[in-house]
Amino acid sequence: LPRQHFAAGQEIFAQGDRGDRAYFIDRGAVEISTDKAGRKVVLARLGSGELFGELALINQQTRSATAVAVEDTEVVSINAEQLDAAIKTANPLLRKLLQVNLGRFQWTQQFMLQHADTVDARQPLEQKARRDLATEKEIQQAIEEQQFELHYQPIISMRGGQTIGFEALLRWRHPRRGLVYPTEFIPLAERTGQIVAIGRWVLGEALNALKAFQMLVGRGSGPRPPLTALAEAAPEPAPRSRTPLFMSINISARQLFELQEIDAIGDAVMASGVDPKQVKLEITESLLVDDPVHAQAAIQLLREYGMRIALDDFGTGYSSLSYLHQFPMDTLKIDQRFVSTMGRDPKSYRIVRAIVGLAEELGMETIAEGIERNNQLAALREIGCDAGQGYLMSRPASFREARRLLQQ
Ligand code: C2E
Ligand code: CA
Ligand code: CA
Ligand code: CA
Repeated sequence: LPRQHFAAGQEIFAQGDRGDRAYFIDRGAVEISTDKAGRKVVLARLGSGELFGELALINQQTRSATAVAVEDTEVVSINAEQLDAAIKTANPLLRKLLQVNLGRFQWTQQFMLQHADTVDARQPLEQKARRDLATEKEIQQAIEEQQFELHYQPIISMRGGQTIGFEALLRWRHPRRGLVYPTEFIPLAERTGQIVAIGRWVLGEALNALKAFQMLVGRGSGPRPPLTALAEAAPEPAPRSRTPLFMSINISARQLFELQEIDAIGDAVMASGVDPKQVKLEITESLLVDDPVHAQAAIQLLREYGMRIALDDFGTGYSSLSYLHQFPMDTLKIDQRFVSTMGRDPKSYRIVRAIVGLAEELGMETIAEGIERNNQLAALREIGCDAGQGYLMSRPASFREARRLLQQ
């Protein structure tokens, strides 16, 4: 592997450069900094034995930070091809370790960059990695001790205003920190692979809840009344609906990596006795982007089990209309970023209208998320969006609260 020497003050790479290699510090010291709105923010100061620039090994994007030798420094570098060659010849255990650790590094770097203004930016990367490791252990414990719970947010028909389903949302009842939200631990659980075990639990729990909710509604005597927020706005009285409730369940791309795991999902649904048509799996575009060929097979298999597929967060990230064409999906979920601005921004309004129109053309159903205001609800209804969820109608509720909502 190439060995390079840098004098004090010499740049190793600059923010904006195309990255193709990672560096290991054999001797010396390196400062990692980033430019935030014209201001230099030091992210880390690294010494011998430490690694930097490894993001380039995962995807060869441009460097998001600058690396400068702060004293006489000697580094060894490795590029993606060399790493690939090494991984290919490594035994499976070593390969797995490498993958997990690269994922962890990537997460740590992204975290550092995102929080460069708020956290102590000089905190070494190593400390972050250590904290990740501690969290990873805590997640393991949470799985074993069942510290997770699901909350259920009602999904409402735009026409009648009645609850037609729920989205299951994960929470971690942490022994010290209290209720922890998924955005705080799912990214790590995805990188460590723990999301697979968590996902299995989520599926079982959500299926049980769905059975309970369906039974409750089936037993109920009258029609399900609209939730209060919709009561005045509903253009027509809630029709007596015989359609059973559905459950929307979030699935990480990581859970669909192995076809075996997909079969496990299918088997769990079959064994639960729930009609698979009433199970909607929410996937995100990243699954489709990262490996379209595999994604197609995965979605196909899930649909063969009779489950429905929803594309979550539509309109964010990589969003490409061609996906809608390429992948057979039942539902489009319109991201709350559009919904939150559509009341005041005509452009958002038109985007949502176009999305809903397109979905209709393709025979897909639309669900809008993050509805917080009456004008958003009215606009979505005008556009012809099929269903929605949001704080305006109901926040995600505990199992007992959700049951009570259905009984009202
Ligand atoms: P998501 O799938 O986009 O879920 C919608 C998020 O928006 C939820 O956040 C929900 O509580 C929130 N929300 C709902 N209505 C409103 C509203 O009117 N206003 C605002 N501001 N927010 C609203 P939450 O529960 O924190 O979940 C965050 C993300 O975590 C989810 O985003 C999803 O990507 C992920 N997630 C949640 N549960 C699971 C799970 O069981 N498995 C996996 N893999 N991911 C999950
Ligand atoms: Ca979702
Ligand atoms: Ca979403
Ligand atoms: Ca429609």
